[in-house]
Amino acid sequence: MRTVSNSSSYPSRTSGVRLVVVHTAETPCEEGRAYNIAAYLANPAVRASAHYVVDPGETVAQVPEEGTAWAAPGANSDGIQIEQAAYAGYSADDWQGADQQRMLREQLAPLVAGICRRWDLPAVWLSAADLLAGRAGVTDHNTVNEAYRASDHWDCGPSFPAGLLMELVRAELGETTAGPAQAEQEYEMRACEMNDGQILLVDGMEYQVLSEGRPWDEINAILIELGRAGLIPTRDGGVPVIEKIGDNAVNALRKVGE
Ligand SMILES: [Zn+2]
Repeated sequence: MRTVSNSSSYPSRTSGVRLVVVHTAETPCEEGRAYNIAAYLANPAVRASAHYVVDPGETVAQVPEEGTAWAAPGANSDGIQIEQAAYAGYSADDWQGADQQRMLREQLAPLVAGICRRWDLPAVWLSAADLLAGRAGVTDHNTVNEAYRASDHWDCGPSFPAGLLMELVRAELGETTAGPAQAEQEYEMRACEMNDGQILLVDGMEYQVLSEGRPWDEINAILIELGRAGLIPTRDGGVPVIEKIGDNAVNALRKVGE
């Protein structure tokens, strides 16, 4: 993988990685573009950067994943930014083009899967509501703007095949589509595990600490019961899904009692 470094970035992060944010760089989808886009962004006058740029033939690295790129206000500090050689104005047919499909399948999906693996992110596509609820996963610049209203960018556009991308990513990760919790499904609550191992029940913008003073057997029984009642996501016929949740996401919520 070639690298084009960029001084318009922060060498370290102020928070952990929660999001993969995909963009379109508004250039034709063809080989050689990723390097050109990275070189363009590297000009200090441009004041923008990305972690990776992809085209049909190549992935170019720019900002290290441990650093913060300047690409999507609202999701810079906890996001990994990927620019595609593509247009936000592409139609669904355009995204079916040979070069576009090659970029999605051979460059973007393996790249996103690797990031999900390295940072322990669920391979789910997030809505603006998911972002505001502090969920982790994959999204695009337009959705970040819907959630945080920080700019007017609308990439990757309304026809971007996000469902196909996530299918490809899950296949790369060896997950079936029935595996992880589907972000588009609505549940009353979520079971989450903090970095320190505490288990939380998150209900909208509030949470309670389920593991406080309870043995694991009891916690597990409660989670299975909640799953059976359809209140939290489950997989494989009833196993409660426990999402990882970062400290920053927890800090944005309000703690309530039992
Ligand atoms: Zn963008």
